[in-house]
Amino acid sequence: MNGVLAICEQTAGVWNRMSFETLAAAQQLGRAQGWSVSAAILGQGAAALAAELAGCALDRVYSVEHERLAHYTADSFTSALDWLIARVRPDAVLLPHTYRGRDFAPCLAARAGRPLLSDVTGFRIERGELIFERQLFQGRLNGDYSVDGAGLVFASLQAGAFRADAVERGTAPIETLTPPLDACAIRHSPEEPFRESAAEVDLGAAERIVAVGRGIREEGNIELVQELATALGAELAASRPVCDNGWLPIERQVGSSGQTVAPKLYIAVGISGAIQHLVGMKGARTIVAINKDAGAPIFEIADYGIVGDLFEVLPALIELLRQAQD
Ligand SMILES: Cc1cc2nc3c(=O)[nH]c(=O)nc-3n(C[C@H](O)[C@H](O)[C@H](O)COP(=O)(O)OP(=O)(O)OC[C@H]3O[C@@H](n4cnc5c(N)ncnc54)[C@H](O)[C@@H]3O)c2cc1C
Repeated sequence: MNGVLAICEQTAGVWNRMSFETLAAAQQLGRAQGWSVSAAILGQGAAALAAELAGCALDRVYSVEHERLAHYTADSFTSALDWLIARVRPDAVLLPHTYRGRDFAPCLAARAGRPLLSDVTGFRIERGELIFERQLFQGRLNGDYSVDGAGLVFASLQAGAFRADAVERGTAPIETLTPPLDACAIRHSPEEPFRESAAEVDLGAAERIVAVGRGIREEGNIELVQELATALGAELAASRPVCDNGWLPIERQVGSSGQTVAPKLYIAVGISGAIQHLVGMKGARTIVAINKDAGAPIFEIADYGIVGDLFEVLPALIELLRQAQD
């Protein structure tokens, strides 16, 4: 048995930011359990990214290279990882809870005959036992989960549950491996990736987000919030009613039935802070709320709050930002 293995995600040479959250979690778990920590990256020609991983405090980086891993398919990734896991024999495998992770992880765990805990928000060691935490009932409750007996456990990690900037730097050796991937066992031929084709924005990767809620009153007023987002170099997002009204596309919705985001800065404009919204953004580093109701629940989790009419606050903020940029 060989510690914890973090599976990192990249597409066409570009990291998914959650890869580093996964690395940070793996390092944390390794420290808590006294385990070795390794990371894997899959692809073709991913040497530069593997080298980046080798700058982290890891025992080993596995660079799993194959032409059939150049583009993601569930079959190729499952087969390659199944092969890698049989070789490395980790105690735990951590991966980001991305669209891709959600796609292949259940099959990978089933092949190993081991449990998968999905969308994990934390873990702790209690009386020597590894306990994972997950949210229940749209974030109203936290549940504790442990796995009976010893053996490999898989866990996918919720966006923003661990901090990417907590990754410890260091040096690690890179082992480049070529898994045996039989073309006949790969049943899919990939088309355009889902996100890029169906969505014009990747909120999960955004560093700054300005989100607009029902307080904006009507579609025509969204332009004002867009102006603030532009002045900050931020992505525009929304609460559900805004998307339900068709004022912004559904891929900009944040919350339990939308995206989970973890930007450095999240500005909530005219959003009350319903639990279904909070579960999607409470992992943001700094939360700023602008709301005319001082009792709005969003202020309970906000780092900075402005109690006021957004139609007065936003023009003043935009003006200040423009002055600062001049
Ligand atoms: C199964 C289910 C799933 C859901 N999924 C999601 C989800 O993914 N995402 C999501 O967001 N919601 C979701 N919801 C809906 C959620 O319960 C709330 O209804 C929703 O988040 C409220 O959106 P809001 O804050 O924009 O609107 P409201 O709750 O109506 O709040 C508007 C806020 O704007 C403020 N305001 C009004 N005028 C001004 C002004 N001039 N200046 C400043 N502030 C002003 C008000 O004080 C108020 O706090 C879901 C609900 C269910 C049942």
